[in-house]
Amino acid sequence: RRRKAFDVRFEPALTRDGHRVEVAANLGSTAHAHDAVEHGAEAVGLLRTEFVFMAHSEAPDLDTQISEYRRAFDALGPERALVARTLDVGGDKPLSYWPLPHEENPFLGLRGIRLALTRPEVLETQIRALLVASQGRPLRIMLPMVKDVLEFRAARAIVDRVIAELGDPILDLQLGVMVEVPSCALLAETLAEEVDFFSIGTNDLTQYTLAIDRGHSLLSAQADGLHPAVLRLIRTTVAAAHARGRWVGVCGELAADPQAVPVLVGLGVDELSVSVRQVPMVKARVRELELSAARALAEQALALGDAGAVRDLVERS
Ligand code: PEP
Ligand code: MG
Repeated sequence: RRRKAFDVRFEPALTRDGHRVEVAANLGSTAHAHDAVEHGAEAVGLLRTEFVFMAHSEAPDLDTQISEYRRAFDALGPERALVARTLDVGGDKPLSYWPLPHEENPFLGLRGIRLALTRPEVLETQIRALLVASQGRPLRIMLPMVKDVLEFRAARAIVDRVIAELGDPILDLQLGVMVEVPSCALLAETLAEEVDFFSIGTNDLTQYTLAIDRGHSLLSAQADGLHPAVLRLIRTTVAAAHARGRWVGVCGELAADPQAVPVLVGLGVDELSVSVRQVPMVKARVRELELSAARALAEQALALGDAGAVRDLVERS
């Protein structure tokens, strides 16, 4: 079965009734972009750019970042999009040369876009590098941990400024947000007026919805993204996005969970972004589905009370 999935990895992922779901890859390094294409990825749905920063002993300068990002674009070719998440440090992700204040609750503190906005010059250099490296190829800039439209606007002001400074560069650019904080999902209608896309980071979204540390030694097994509370936030996001013609991806680990794929497709998610090796399997899983049945399944899942009940439902279906 694995073999079969691998053999058809370059085929699109269509449900039995012809509904297409884009399957993309999550990358920790631009060096793996080539491998992603070889595994049938139709895009990079999440480039975790903090790894570019962690690989250096000080913040990589403009030219270093340009050549990093260019390597990913070159491997992807002119058609496949690169969704680059801007620097996402703080919380569980330290950066040695960017000392953070001691915090009692780092997961509730300076992290993601909040932290990046305290050092706008770092964000600006990164955005400039991404724009320059893209050279008209499809670039999707994604902001991590956004909680409301104000943070999005602050980051967009930086993007607009860099574009103006570059003097009308050739761009195929979308600017979107990760949905990792419940407030972002709850306010998706407001955000959808301004963002180009959403990508749901179920790892953090689950942590913040259920109030369970994603790495907790005793509790993390309960931090299940198939919890109906998380699914309702996904539904809210998809409804708001689609009403405005925006697309929605899922780039957390849930996207590669075989039990979750039918539920996410049924909720109307447009793109699943998973680790490189899982791309062929996720495509194969989509091909087993019938969209109408997946929708009915998602509808039933939303009405349940806990994640275990959702998993039982999927198994029985
Ligand atoms: C997420 O939170 O789901 C996500 C994809 O981001 P990360 O795992 O890098 O925090
Ligand atoms: Mg996250």
